[in-house]
Amino acid sequence: MTERVFNFGAGPAVLPEQVLEEVREHLMMLPGVGMSVLEISHRSEAFDEILMTAETNIRTLAGLSDDYHVLFLPGGATHQFAMVPMNLLSDGGIADYVVTGPWAKKAAKEAEKFGAVHIAATTEHERFMRIPTSVELDLTAGATYVHVTSNNTIAGTEWCEMPDVGDRPLVVDASSDIFSRPLDVARPGGSLIYAGAQKNLGPAGVTVVIGRDDLIFSNRSPSTLPTLMRYATSAENRSRYNTPPVFAIYVVSLVTSWLRDQGGLEAMDERNERKARKVYAQIDSSGFYHGTASTDSRSRMNVTFRLETPRLDARFVTAAADAGLAGLKGHRSVGGQRASIYNALPEEGVDALVSFMAEFECMNG
Ligand code: PMP
Repeated sequence: MTERVFNFGAGPAVLPEQVLEEVREHLMMLPGVGMSVLEISHRSEAFDEILMTAETNIRTLAGLSDDYHVLFLPGGATHQFAMVPMNLLSDGGIADYVVTGPWAKKAAKEAEKFGAVHIAATTEHERFMRIPTSVELDLTAGATYVHVTSNNTIAGTEWCEMPDVGDRPLVVDASSDIFSRPLDVARPGGSLIYAGAQKNLGPAGVTVVIGRDDLIFSNRSPSTLPTLMRYATSAENRSRYNTPPVFAIYVVSLVTSWLRDQGGLEAMDERNERKARKVYAQIDSSGFYHGTASTDSRSRMNVTFRLETPRLDARFVTAAADAGLAGLKGHRSVGGQRASIYNALPEEGVDALVSFMAEFECMNG
């Protein structure tokens, strides 16, 4: 390859070209610092500024009130599957989990190690191809929290709005759709939202956690809980109790600045709606492509579809890659194709995919 391809991979995923160029330009030496971002101390003034930029951008983009904390934690979203119940699920409490995909199922399974888990709804019997309706949710009265996965990366489904959980706190794994639309945090029981950075926020290595004061400082965890596993430790030490993933946070600061310059989350929402609509329209325009997810649950970030036979699916993926459209192979548990069209995937990439789909249909339909 001599040119950048359009990267439809599910994650780590495409980053804005402008961000990559800025990283390249400043990799040897941050302006005014004389050192690379890969070499600076996490206690330096330069990193103070980077951390402040990342946090301020996230606060502004999400419209967070002062009672919300923004934490930058290592370990990936999977680490949060454990940290959430470790910090919030006290003895005698019950956590409700809505199981809409393999990641949600893993989160629920991990929580069972720490306390009582109630599956408030699951669509596993339908291979996770849809999001449950509000009447299907069997929420526990007084549940300690309700956990949902806002976008299901594998099946390609997404909650079009967060469920009404009354005054229970809502915990959201937003790894694959954070900042693709305005963030819905305000609710009586508070919110805790976490997202591994490697899809919509930056490179792998950092997870952003946004949580209301009473959830971050819940004081429900046992005194034996390791220091670094406590949200309070990171909040009290501005995510620097130990050495944080400096480079990943640096890139998050650039990506969130880029998001701000693009017009913020309302603008991203509009653009993502338009991008997804184009791909789904192509899928629905003939009987050649079949959307995998239920129409009412379709994700705007991960568009899943298949062709008539696995052989044709394989041919599509190879021919697409030859045409500069990479990473379209679906997850092994679903098969077919998955076009991940995160914030940073340019609209021209979507247009190129749609043209390729029409051409491929013409040649093989
Ligand atoms: N949750 C969701 C929705 C995901 O898509 C993924 C990764 N693809 C994870 C959790 C796990 O993330 P990580 O690899 O950062 O632990």
